[in-house]
Amino acid sequence: MKKIIISAIIFLFSTITFANIKVVTTTTVIYDLVKEIGKEKVKVDYLCRGDQDPHFLEILPSYMLKLRNADVVFKIGLGLELWLQQLIDGSRNDKLKLIDLSTDIEKKEVPTGKIDASQGDIHPYGNPHYWLDPENAKKMAKQITEVLSDLSPDNSAYFQKNFTDFITKLDSKINEWKTKLNPVKGKPILTFHKSWVYFADRFGLKIAGQVEPKPGIPPTPSHNAELISEIKRSNIKLILMENYYSDNAPNQLSKATGVKVVKVANAVYGQSGISSYIQMIDSIVNSLSNNL
Ligand SMILES: [Zn+2]
Repeated sequence: MKKIIISAIIFLFSTITFANIKVVTTTTVIYDLVKEIGKEKVKVDYLCRGDQDPHFLEILPSYMLKLRNADVVFKIGLGLELWLQQLIDGSRNDKLKLIDLSTDIEKKEVPTGKIDASQGDIHPYGNPHYWLDPENAKKMAKQITEVLSDLSPDNSAYFQKNFTDFITKLDSKINEWKTKLNPVKGKPILTFHKSWVYFADRFGLKIAGQVEPKPGIPPTPSHNAELISEIKRSNIKLILMENYYSDNAPNQLSKATGVKVVKVANAVYGQSGISSYIQMIDSIVNSLSNNL
């Protein structure tokens, strides 16, 4: 009896002390960063799985339930999650805070002229794939630290310490990744989707073109024919692609030219063995340095 009372008291105490911040993230990369900063002080869930294309998420009713009781939802922004607003509306959660992590990011490929939506370009506000540059992951982590601290000021020193630890860990990995990719600097590659510009700029890779004629537009025979000449002309050895895209067109290019098709995860849990941001970049860097 005594034991039961003691455990009941411990349980009660722990639920009061650990009144967790309830966080939902659109992607698994944000999810992992929130876990790094919030650790056991947050309860976090994500919407888009790591092996799904975040541009085109098929909506499930359960996503609204996830948002119903959340304190805050973090998104990548720049038009990546056009599916999010209807989920927020459907959640009927008036207290839900929406945080756009792109605000402090130096954006690339922001269109200057008028966007013609009929062209189907799914990067109308600039390229949203900024999380693939680890320097941007630091900015995302910083903003997450600030938001969590606002929601739970008592824990702000704790979040700040976790942030500092994460940055130290990431900085040492960035040096390692730069060293590993140094030998392949300047070598031209193709990518399937236009998602690698931030990564390529950080590590000195040269992107010579995309298999998609425009972001979100499926490959065409005429565009593939142009790519075959480009692969031969520039001696391109590798096509980098997210593992959730169809590899039909890349395989055709490979058959015609011998170019290697390398599939990677661009999100956490995108393939087995990748359960953190650092493991994800590790795996991308290794795929490139082993195959180029
Ligand atoms: Zn995209």
